[in-house]
Amino acid sequence: MTYCCEQVARQLQHTCEAHSDLRDCPDSLVIHLQDTGQFGLRVHDGGSSFITIRHCPWCGTDLLERVSNRERREDWSLQRLARPDSRRLDRVRGSSR
Ligand SMILES: [Zn+2]
Ligand SMILES: [Zn+2]
Repeated sequence: MTYCCEQVARQLQHTCEAHSDLRDCPDSLVIHLQDTGQFGLRVHDGGSSFITIRHCPWCGTDLLERVSNRERREDWSLQRLARPDSRRLDRVRGSSR
């Protein structure tokens, strides 16, 4: 996988001897969510929270467009659309089959 810039690559390849769990490491700023292809900025509040970002904070590249797998992104947006009204969507799908 190639990243938009060296800073992001360095962040995502970051490992720390002092913090086996990178949630505890103040040097770890960026995370990549494997399931959605999204990127996030860690919020170091003692938990595992993060803020999802669309654009690289260093170079401004559109991360979803540039980095993530396109198919995966479509799956993700479909899931998001389906979530609030999944029952009705299932019914529509069922009747069309
Ligand atoms: Zn970048
Ligand atoms: Zn550390």
